[in-house]
Amino acid sequence: APKTSAAAAPAPTSAPVHQVPSYLDPNHLGPWGIYLTQVDRVTPYLGPLARWVETLKRPKRALIVDVPIEMDNGTIAHFEGYRVQHNVSRGPGKGGVRFHQAVTLSEVMALAAWMSVKNAAVNVPYGGAKGGIRVDPRTLSKGELERLTRRYTSEIGIIIGPHKDIPAPDVNTNEKVMAWMMDTYSMNVGATATGVVTGKPVDLGGSLGRREATGRGVFTVGVEAAQQIGLPIAGARVAVQGFGNVGGIAGKLFAEAGALVVAVQDHTGGIANDKGLNVPKLLDHVAETGGVAGFKGAEALKPGEFWGTKCDILIPAALEGQLTKENAGKVKAKMVIEGANGPTTPEADDILQDKGILVVPDVIANAGGVTVSYFEWVQDFSSFFWSEEEINQRLVRIMKEAFAGVWNTAQQHKVSLRTATFIVACTRILTARDQRGLYP
Ligand code: GLU
Repeated sequence: APKTSAAAAPAPTSAPVHQVPSYLDPNHLGPWGIYLTQVDRVTPYLGPLARWVETLKRPKRALIVDVPIEMDNGTIAHFEGYRVQHNVSRGPGKGGVRFHQAVTLSEVMALAAWMSVKNAAVNVPYGGAKGGIRVDPRTLSKGELERLTRRYTSEIGIIIGPHKDIPAPDVNTNEKVMAWMMDTYSMNVGATATGVVTGKPVDLGGSLGRREATGRGVFTVGVEAAQQIGLPIAGARVAVQGFGNVGGIAGKLFAEAGALVVAVQDHTGGIANDKGLNVPKLLDHVAETGGVAGFKGAEALKPGEFWGTKCDILIPAALEGQLTKENAGKVKAKMVIEGANGPTTPEADDILQDKGILVVPDVIANAGGVTVSYFEWVQDFSSFFWSEEEINQRLVRIMKEAFAGVWNTAQQHKVSLRTATFIVACTRILTARDQRGLYP
């Protein structure tokens, strides 16, 4: 018989060839690579649960959606959207939605994974998820932004839901966007479902205190950490990167507690004032102009100068990958409180640790936002709403208890606060995984 090309192909080996998934390709890891290193660092402390660790190294589910919208000028534009559910062992997926031109699958995967760790670290009954659209929302009109949000919500509608996965605000998304998401999901299912997203307007099932919650959590944990290292807040010098919902509120609370906010940097530039910036005025300036640049009562910083600011507390509260091996050596602070998700690379972590600088990691420091998201979700289900005082009290209690637990774990194992938080959180996640067992 004539030889076919198929017959000439090499005989199949006994096991299928192992192909590395694209998101595990070492050349394109991005923030996901940072997260994987963090998991490698916790693995030796997981005991028998380490048998499940591979669960943490791949997302449970990742959805990529095309989001087409009609622009105001009549053209059709296509945007790339994502929703990643990293882990749902402890409860439904939970995590924000980011609108940013640099969003990638790798980034959303990492952010979803950090949500799993964060939710377990403060012990709220959620897994971890995250979403995003690769778009610069500043280039869109209000109508375009609404159509984009609604189409994206419809596209991810097959995997979100009040008991499945609950989105929330993140970089460049806010209460308005959450209202559109809630409405779109509700229209599609035929019933108002307030519990499908958190961070909604208060008139629409949102929670008092949610908007300030992440910044308040950063402040609360920062005060606890400062106490541990004997740093008084009154008179402490604070530098903040990113002056939005996280950095702006944290800066305001530190200033109210008597600290001096001496430098701020955001996407518009850097500013400094050795005697302390007037934070309420700076917040007004940012609300009016969209950034800190041009603020009167401060001098402009040169690019790169910010990281070397003479300060006690450094708060990166913008995007990931900001403190790197290139600039970590310049940091003069006594402690870094991560308001952003993933701002410090593992190399920078090591440099800061060698310099004796305490790093309070994102997965505990910025967990205040999702903690009050949890309160919002609970209030939506019970249709019974709490006072702002009650919310803040419960938030502060959870944050303090979680921090104390992480601090003790760090002392016990002589590890960084990041690894300690991962020990606490990953133990909780994998215990649930182990108890549930594999199906089928
Ligand atoms: N986007 C916030 C975070 O990174 C909040 C998420 C939420 O409330 O679900 O923690």
